[in-house]
Amino acid sequence: MLSPPQREHFARLSLGRAVALWTAVLALATLLVALRLHGIAERHPEEDATRVARGWTQQLGRAVPRADSLFGPAPAPRALLPLAGLRGATGVYAFRLYAVDGRATLASQDLPGAAPADAAARVRRLLAGGAASVQLHRSGDDRAAVRAEVWLPVGGESGPLGAAEVHVDLDEIAAVTTRSAMAAGFTALAGLLGVGLAGLLLWRSHARGERSAREHMDYLAQHDPLTGALNRASFVVALQRATQRPGAGVAVLCLDLDRFREFNEWLGRGAGDALLRQVAARLRAMVRSGDLVARLGSDEFAVLADTADAEALAGLAQRIVDSLKQPYALAGRSCEVGASIGIALHGVDGDGADKLVQHADLALARAKADGRGAFRFYDARLDDELQRRRRLGVELRDALAGNSLALHFQPLQEAASGRIVGYEALARWPHPERGFVPPTTFIALAEQTGLIEELGTWVLHAACAEAAGWPDELTVAVNLSPAQFRRDGAIVETVAHALARSGLAPARLELEITESLLMARTEPVLQALHALRALGVRIAMDDFGTGYSSLAHLWRFPLDRVKLDREFTHNLAGDAKVGVIVGSVVSMAHALGMRVTAEGVETEAQRQALATHGCDELQGFLLGRPQPPDRLA
Ligand code: C2E
Ligand code: CA
Ligand code: CA
Repeated sequence: MLSPPQREHFARLSLGRAVALWTAVLALATLLVALRLHGIAERHPEEDATRVARGWTQQLGRAVPRADSLFGPAPAPRALLPLAGLRGATGVYAFRLYAVDGRATLASQDLPGAAPADAAARVRRLLAGGAASVQLHRSGDDRAAVRAEVWLPVGGESGPLGAAEVHVDLDEIAAVTTRSAMAAGFTALAGLLGVGLAGLLLWRSHARGERSAREHMDYLAQHDPLTGALNRASFVVALQRATQRPGAGVAVLCLDLDRFREFNEWLGRGAGDALLRQVAARLRAMVRSGDLVARLGSDEFAVLADTADAEALAGLAQRIVDSLKQPYALAGRSCEVGASIGIALHGVDGDGADKLVQHADLALARAKADGRGAFRFYDARLDDELQRRRRLGVELRDALAGNSLALHFQPLQEAASGRIVGYEALARWPHPERGFVPPTTFIALAEQTGLIEELGTWVLHAACAEAAGWPDELTVAVNLSPAQFRRDGAIVETVAHALARSGLAPARLELEITESLLMARTEPVLQALHALRALGVRIAMDDFGTGYSSLAHLWRFPLDRVKLDREFTHNLAGDAKVGVIVGSVVSMAHALGMRVTAEGVETEAQRQALATHGCDELQGFLLGRPQPPDRLA
């Protein structure tokens, strides 16, 4: 439709002439319009395909560094990666490049068959200034042209590079094309009847420009600018269309990268963006041509797969997991990032696009909870579990507000003397119906629901208040979640406040942190740790040995203690190497001025072995279970 200023402009231009012509040409014009509309419907796929292919080759010439090498005998590796990124961004699903002499130099993997025998002749004709050629491949079903093969020259900054055979999947842009053809047709008819053929012809050329601008905007509106994948809104539209086709086999795979946030904070936004682009490129290389790839959120991607066959989907999901696990070259280093996938099948797991995405998301959460780097299918029980978790979140908030959480304390024993030197505070949630909810469950829930800061503050205050009533030589250890370091400076303030309010001497408070905290946002975290130490409190590294760091990596951080994860204690008896590792961790920690606590001591044999290996303190059921404060010795 025309906007009011356009209409005015058009009226000024053509009214006089139109009135004069109107009567004479009405019959002829009606005939022309009928022919024209027919022509639009016929010609649009070719135009669309050529436009998309031309855009692609222009991008190739401009955006790919050393693009010229793609037309030579050995493409520069630097050119191949962005090339993969270009693929699929506009519905281009395959291509073959030809050197100026007509020799095929590079083809995408999924291009069927070899270069045609007349390739050299076609390339010569194109480079001599011939028009781009388009061939439509119509499939048998009710859709219009589904694929197009476009031949056109490719130019670089300093002249022609060669030619390209570009295969375009018109399915993706079919809806836009149909819509604009209909709109153009109706507006043309209205324009004709109102003011005449001359105006129509003027307007047609104007509308054509407007349409191509609109299609360009449509493209931008439908794709994620960073990765070229579809965005969420257009993915849902495509999914809706796919699920409405009768008997369609459709499935949604939702995936996200494991620990992307830590990664982003660690290497910076630029590397994070580069990673996302590489992930999108790998995904596009993995899916079949009928499948669509979308980016739904920060590190969340989705694939619309053209099948509901569980075996095939499991195969695809496994291939994606394997491929995304391969190292990425980022910020000058080689990095590894895993991915988890959730799958929902149309017709089995709920109809409607929104439901499918929601269910695939639930399955994704399950895959992550089951240990990441895996895929899971949606199953209706997940739905119940989600409801349960939501309820639990609300109940946790109430428990925190109603002061019904509790702290238990587990003794820490000096290995040499057997003396109790302090206690670790462990949060407990006595639930009216479920009994004690395990802290690993509700701490994770608090982290997800944003309650963790409040919960952590409560723990700090309660632990300090309790310990202030103990004999002076006893310490108290409090666990901190990485989420408590997210707001710069907040944790330092909270700790200082808890100390001041309870009157506990800072030297009697030890804060336990985990390795994952040190991986993320190193600088601000380092600052916070130094500030905490400046208050006079001590810092312990909890669960040491379960993460990625080695002691050699930890020397930069102001740590007073390492707590060996209970896995070491557990495996001590079965594997002689474990004793060697424990011994060397202890001597290295001592060399760095840190003390060592061994966790999970359950047997007398373990206690003796750990003491022999030089551990300073011990903790475990053998020496005392976590107890409410009124039951402490
Ligand atoms: P953690 O910090 O490693 O705490 C030690 C856990 O090991 C406790 O589990 C304790 O009951 C258990 N444990 C102690 N001795 C033994 C033993 O000999 N054998 C075995 N198998 N286990 C032993 P709990 O209380 O279930 O806490 C689990 C985790 O929840 C804690 O692991 C900690 O990461 C987290 N957590 C607990 N309270 C808090 C808290 O207030 N804040 C934060 N951020 N995390 C907490
Ligand atoms: Ca701990
Ligand atoms: Ca621990």
